[in-house]
Amino acid sequence: KLYNEVQELKGNIRVYCRIRPFLVGETRKSSIVGSIGENGELVVLNPSKQVKDGEKMFKFNKVYGPSATQGEVFLDIQPLVRSVLDGYNVCIFAYGQTGSGKTYTMSGPDSPTEEVWGVNYRALNDLFHISQSRRNSILYEVGVQMIEIYNEQVRDLLANDPSQKKLGILSSSQPNGLAVPNAIMHPVNSTSDVLELMNIGQTNRAVSATALNTSSSRSHCVVTVHIRGSDLKTRSTLCGSLHLVDLAGSERVDRSEVMGDRLKEAQHINKSLSALGDVIFSLSQKNAHVPYRNSKLTQVLQSSLGGHAKTLMFVQINPDANSYLESLSALKFAERVS
Ligand code: ADP
Ligand code: MG
Repeated sequence: KLYNEVQELKGNIRVYCRIRPFLVGETRKSSIVGSIGENGELVVLNPSKQVKDGEKMFKFNKVYGPSATQGEVFLDIQPLVRSVLDGYNVCIFAYGQTGSGKTYTMSGPDSPTEEVWGVNYRALNDLFHISQSRRNSILYEVGVQMIEIYNEQVRDLLANDPSQKKLGILSSSQPNGLAVPNAIMHPVNSTSDVLELMNIGQTNRAVSATALNTSSSRSHCVVTVHIRGSDLKTRSTLCGSLHLVDLAGSERVDRSEVMGDRLKEAQHINKSLSALGDVIFSLSQKNAHVPYRNSKLTQVLQSSLGGHAKTLMFVQINPDANSYLESLSALKFAERVS
């Protein structure tokens, strides 16, 4: 193995919590963050109670406070990303309510400079660079697919007209196989390929959201990096894949307030997020039956959830007291699967 990750954790599921800062122009109400421990402890304060009886304690593999940079976060997950070159399937996803920083963690702010590139850019760029540097003995090919899942339909974000292009998925994905074989696979041979790809995908995600009269935070976005390494001496090949997922917002939508398309949308999101939670929970319990079939999301991610695959979830938190209940429910979701 070229990249041996220190496996201090019990299984193959890790949960990192990231708390975003208050933003410029945001009225600074009280923060729900009581304290952050060195070893992944997080104390959350209930803003409506006295501090003492309103405290809740959580424990994750890591907790990033508001000042953590994109570079620091990536440094921690770099070994996990690079294990794809050793043939692992890896899934990294961001969970949380809209506005909690999922897109920031996975992609960065809009049109990011290199300093604030999110996980997608950094992972792609890193894998491409490493694959170049190991060219002598092993020939690597790096390809990327980018899809979104909206109302249980899969769309290709690298296609010219993603609002039209709906895709089928394979009923059960093979290990290392393509879950969405007909989605465009874009080769990555340079940093400018990375930038171009991310740009096309993000633009198309916004365009299709507008066409559907919704917001991009109501769809799941899945970037899949496929790596094939061919050892020229032994003539063996090794495949690995990395799924990078910006999930739809986890906020509960009040049934009494939404109707029609928005209600349907909310129901699809609830269903797929709970299907994801159920899959990861049953993996953490080492259950024999894992319910992958309950949503398109879990079917698409199947090859990188379970088995020898490694899974990392970012639970994203908006520190504002007004978000307390949503934050608590995200933390509970994360606690259940960790
Ligand atoms: P989500 O995708 O969960 O809806 P966003 O990633 O769009 O949330 O984040 C909401 C806002 O907060 C954006 O303006 C984003 O740039 C900003 N933001 C999120 N996380 C951070 C962070 N760690 N540092 C600085 N700004 C952040
Ligand atoms: Mg977002």
